[in-house]
Amino acid sequence: MQIALASSVRRKICRELSQSGRRETGGLLLAEQLDDEGRFRVVDVTVDPRGGESTYFERRPELHTQALEAFFEKHSNDFGRFNYLGEWHSHPSFPVTPSMTDVTTMQAMVEDVGNIDFSVLMIVRLRMFVMLQVGANLFMRGRAPQPVEMINDPAPRIRRKFI
Ligand SMILES: [Zn+2]
Repeated sequence: MQIALASSVRRKICRELSQSGRRETGGLLLAEQLDDEGRFRVVDVTVDPRGGESTYFERRPELHTQALEAFFEKHSNDFGRFNYLGEWHSHPSFPVTPSMTDVTTMQAMVEDVGNIDFSVLMIVRLRMFVMLQVGANLFMRGRAPQPVEMINDPAPRIRRKFI
């Protein structure tokens, strides 16, 4: 799997991290699937207004449902292309690798049958006020986590459907 961050998302995350300082923050990753080979582009992220608590994985259905519904509506309910991709949070004082708790919680989320089959955890950290470090892992039911390659945001494609 490869993931690109839209420049607007990169800016939004940087802004959020500089405002949060040493407090952790996070939310959902909302993405566009670019092809059938596992390339995704994160086109928006939600930011949990109750940021700073110890974990970002507690399901808060009302917040998530609202954010997801607004996202789906914006993209004409094209779920095949625009959908939930995973979770993100910051590690202001630690490397951008998942903690034991991160791994356990993400794996439990995808192993829960009836829930999602896969989910990405992206961890971010701001260095020197402007440099965004990003680490991402893919969690899948019945499999060990796999590192995700972060790629540059591809040039906008010609959207055949609008021609
Ligand atoms: Zn973490």
